[in-house]
Amino acid sequence: MTYTRADSAYDHLWMHFTRMSSYRDTPPPMIVRGDGAYIYDSEGRRYLDGLSGLFVVQAGHGREELAEAAAKQARELAYFPLWSYAHPAAVELADRLAGYAPGDLNKVFFTTGGGEAVETAWKAAKQYFKLVGKPGKYKVISRAVAYHGTPQGALSITGIPDAKIAFEPLVPGAHKVPNTNFYRAAEMSGVPSLGEDEAVFGRWAADQVEQAILMEGPDTVAAVFVEPVQNSGGCFTPPPGYFERLREICDSHDVLLVSDEVICAFGRLGTMFGAQRYGYQPDIITCAKGMTSGYSPIGAAILSDRIAAPFYEDTKMFAHGYTFGGHPVSASVALANLDIFEREGLNQHVLDNQAAFRATLEKLRDLPIVGDVRGDGYFYGIELVKDKATKATFDEEEAERLLRGFLSGALFEAGLYCRADDRGDPVIQVAPPLICEQEQFDEIESVLRDVLTRAGALL
Ligand code: PLP
Repeated sequence: MTYTRADSAYDHLWMHFTRMSSYRDTPPPMIVRGDGAYIYDSEGRRYLDGLSGLFVVQAGHGREELAEAAAKQARELAYFPLWSYAHPAAVELADRLAGYAPGDLNKVFFTTGGGEAVETAWKAAKQYFKLVGKPGKYKVISRAVAYHGTPQGALSITGIPDAKIAFEPLVPGAHKVPNTNFYRAAEMSGVPSLGEDEAVFGRWAADQVEQAILMEGPDTVAAVFVEPVQNSGGCFTPPPGYFERLREICDSHDVLLVSDEVICAFGRLGTMFGAQRYGYQPDIITCAKGMTSGYSPIGAAILSDRIAAPFYEDTKMFAHGYTFGGHPVSASVALANLDIFEREGLNQHVLDNQAAFRATLEKLRDLPIVGDVRGDGYFYGIELVKDKATKATFDEEEAERLLRGFLSGALFEAGLYCRADDRGDPVIQVAPPLICEQEQFDEIESVLRDVLTRAGALL
């Protein structure tokens, strides 16, 4: 029977990235069921899942075949580690992921989630350079406001000061460069003309990576970590030529290009991997979330043959692993999830519907509070501003009152689960399940229009 006593959450359930004091007197919303693009709370109210849980539930909720895959695997072999032993689900999944991944990304190292995949990629990069006789290369360049996870290595390369300060000192060697926020290109760079031409801005943004490598010393830099589309800050898409230039820079300084696709893989952008959408070849891809559509946790770092080669020699090994990495149940669910992708053409569905999704969200631009609408595929950020003409953003008090005090709750009450995020300038994040169509796009637009209009009146 479903446990519905949400009021005991405050006493015992320490929720993630949550101000627990908000739930001292009022219980948190309790989500008890999902079906397709919708979730239901303990009172029976229905909400459109506008964030796919947390960028996870690609195939939608309530998929019988994914539950079946989990049950079947649990009956057959519930658990075995990948420490010197293999199991069929992990071997098959690795084989399949290598087949989908671009170029020679053929070696799959399983984790239980995204942060561990990022840790794995950084550790692999460090050891790779030790193995090939360049032991001084250990540093990572990543971008401002980017989120890469909460383990201390992943947190170090995260570019959100508020998420890090409490845990300092963190892992040394993490350096930040500007992201690809074209909406604020002029103010971010201090060069007004960069706000006029996206390709010129893209060149500038990529060159900042090279500047950082040169400043730190190419002999000390192991990797650059970037998302295909940066989530934090609100869907910063890559300007034309950005990844091409980044690849050149990485090659010329012998630095690994790591594509953190914890959000962008598995159809979020209409391709199996985000790098494929923008046509670049990473040395390592990190992924997690959508691999099972959330029916069981798993993540992976997918490495190129070239990076893996020195680890595969005689007595060498990657001294790294997780008890639950590549868990049989999760691996079986991932396989069944990939079957759904194939059978239902989920990537093609996103490609076919992305223009309609964009056009529907773009309608919101007529609201005075909406400064920018940006993204690709089924992955959008709507930046909110105080003054559209000057792009002025909110001060701390206004952000608190508007975002935390009003928006998230009001959207939810109006039947849309999504997120008001202020880790950079304030944005509403929208990333619905990949099965969504015009009916859901309209529903998202209509709730956002109503709630953002009311938010504008509060200013
Ligand atoms: N990398 C990116 C780009 C993410 O968006 C996230 C989580 O949102 C992570 C890493 C961390 O993943 P996890 O929460 O599964 O550890």
